[in-house]
Amino acid sequence: MTKIHEGKIALITGGNSGLGLATATTLAKEGAKIAIVGRKEDSLQKAKENIISNVPKAEVLIIKADVSSEKDTKKYVDATVKEYSRIDYFFNNAGIEGLQEPITKYDMDVYRSVIDINLMGVVYGLKYVIEVMEKQAKGTIVNTSSVGGLRGVVNQSAYVASKHGVAGITKNMASEYADKNIRVNAICPGAIKTPMVEQAFKMMNPENPEQAEREFAANNPTKRLGVPEEVADVVSFLFSEKSRYIVGQMIVIDGGQSNQY
Ligand code: NAD
Repeated sequence: MTKIHEGKIALITGGNSGLGLATATTLAKEGAKIAIVGRKEDSLQKAKENIISNVPKAEVLIIKADVSSEKDTKKYVDATVKEYSRIDYFFNNAGIEGLQEPITKYDMDVYRSVIDINLMGVVYGLKYVIEVMEKQAKGTIVNTSSVGGLRGVVNQSAYVASKHGVAGITKNMASEYADKNIRVNAICPGAIKTPMVEQAFKMMNPENPEQAEREFAANNPTKRLGVPEEVADVVSFLFSEKSRYIVGQMIVIDGGQSNQY
């Protein structure tokens, strides 16, 4: 039986960890050829081994690049096209959390780096990938926003500003490119158990991060955090033809947490 993403080319930023790695593995299982972008060579290499240990026939290109650099962005897009000739799917996903501080105490250099990575990184990715997809007259893009792209999160104003920016540009790109056969959506995960969220629990309760996690989970209707594979399945759906009339949407994946207060 033909796999749903057979032969498709998927470019994934932040593909060496968390949501990006889970999505790379899921798409590889479903037949896609993968290019993953991250900042560290050794972690990219480990991620490649991890994907291949799950999917022995997977084709995985690793590209070391900083998404907050426009020059590096052009480099990772060019490297993907050189290897695979095209880009069918772009998971524009790399991001950092930044600090949990009120604005009066927030270090402005860190603030700027959150905006540079989470927002400008997404913008640069769109600029260079859409150029490729326009030439192909086809492509599908999923940006990673957050429930923090739809609501406020106390003491995380840099993150929330960056993710609201991602939500905004997603809607714009979707409107501007839908008639060119380029479909753009965003995912808005809640708390999904990845290294980033584990780090956040350490910031909330340095002595007892497990306690912070338990408290967080207790407030979720499902009484648990999400796992990266649950996000990967949604991204796979958004890349597939099954979601062909979903355009410019913010898809919340949070166990229903953002419905309640
Ligand atoms: P993670 O820390 O496991 O992964 C983040 C990835 O981004 C890593 O691979 C890292 O190398 C990469 N990255 C960071 N800065 C980069 C840069 N400058 N250049 C290149 N790569 C860079 O965290 P995650 O939870 O998998 O996060 C992935 C995305 O999901 C982020 O955008 C994050 O904001 C978003 N998100 C996560 C959650 C969650 O609960 N885990 C919730 C909402 C949104």
